[in-house]
Amino acid sequence: MKHSRRLDRLPPYLFDELDKAKQRLIALGAKVIDLAVGDPDLPTPPQIVERMREAVTDPTYHRYPGYRGSAALRNSLASWFHRRYEVELDPDSEILVLIGSKEGLGHLPLALLDPEDTVAVPDPAYPVYANTSIMSGAGVQFFDLKEENAFLPRIDELDSLGGVRLIFLNYPNNPTGAVAGSGFFDSLVTLAVKKGIMLCNDAAYNEITFDGFQSPSILASKGAMECAIEIHSFSKTYNMTGWRIGFAVGNARILSALSQVKVNLDSSVFGAIQDAALTALSLSYDQNLREYERRRRLAFEWLPKLGCCFFYPKGTFYLWGRVPPGLTSTEFAVRVLEKANVSVAPGSGFGSNGEGWFRIALTRPVDEIDEGFERIASLNLWTS
Ligand code: PMP
Repeated sequence: MKHSRRLDRLPPYLFDELDKAKQRLIALGAKVIDLAVGDPDLPTPPQIVERMREAVTDPTYHRYPGYRGSAALRNSLASWFHRRYEVELDPDSEILVLIGSKEGLGHLPLALLDPEDTVAVPDPAYPVYANTSIMSGAGVQFFDLKEENAFLPRIDELDSLGGVRLIFLNYPNNPTGAVAGSGFFDSLVTLAVKKGIMLCNDAAYNEITFDGFQSPSILASKGAMECAIEIHSFSKTYNMTGWRIGFAVGNARILSALSQVKVNLDSSVFGAIQDAALTALSLSYDQNLREYERRRRLAFEWLPKLGCCFFYPKGTFYLWGRVPPGLTSTEFAVRVLEKANVSVAPGSGFGSNGEGWFRIALTRPVDEIDEGFERIASLNLWTS
């Protein structure tokens, strides 16, 4: 069977081979500790589950939900956004409910780009930005995120990119754990307005920050509503990855284009899930953050003991570390999987600048993370 040529343009999915190797080991009876996948092990708060249990029996929700998300949820999101970020949003035109943030990120290039257009994408990054842009037919230009710039792009480098219509960003950042402050967003928005570029900040991890740092919204920068949208998610904030709900906020024309794609492809999120999301917005997520803090402290003890240099993350539940000298990212990930039965994500899977790095997700219980580090330590990879 012939598939479309656009699929041939996609790069190979590096994590696929490692996942197969992991499954082979599990089938042979190995107890693999999975620190590769960023999927919270903590349960969804019981109040959300209870609201869902009630909502699921309501016949109103058994019919098609409205395309842009329920008015109740969009109104609550507007209040929540104002409380959290001091940004005023019009619930009708500046908020769009998504089937998880990935859905919105994936459909955005279809809504905004033509084959003659170029989109700028960070390297390293969550692969969805580049891959769905490729599927839309647009050209992709990568820009560097380097440790010496705290994994923020240089504004002068972005300024020198020619003919870019859209820039994807992701702060707090997967895979590095880097964060962006309001000064960075201000400079970027000034550049975008000057050059007529659209911005999309993937803010899926905006509520997962540490050491007193609070992620700003790019929409709080002057001029941002003219050119930017931001994509948020319930997945990581409330441990709801399986529920599939997120939302896009910002420039009404960009959201209207995204909505036009969506009305032709999906029929929004199950109403009962949107109802449960209303409960989520009334809850604190501090308990989550305290648990990640415990896990971070443990990791920060282990990594220096291993001899591993790492970037100190102020956001997300990821750790971005240097692989031992003499090994590529993939060689390191394979070695750790096969010899220690610990699964980590090779940095090169996030782009060429990820070579030489690996990513650990602190989405396993403390004792498993501890055992994982102990097993990696027994290989003496940094010291030998
Ligand atoms: N953005 C980033 C940077 C992610 O890492 C992920 C998931 N790991 C997503 C978006 C997608 O999240 P969701 O679709 O569950 O909201």
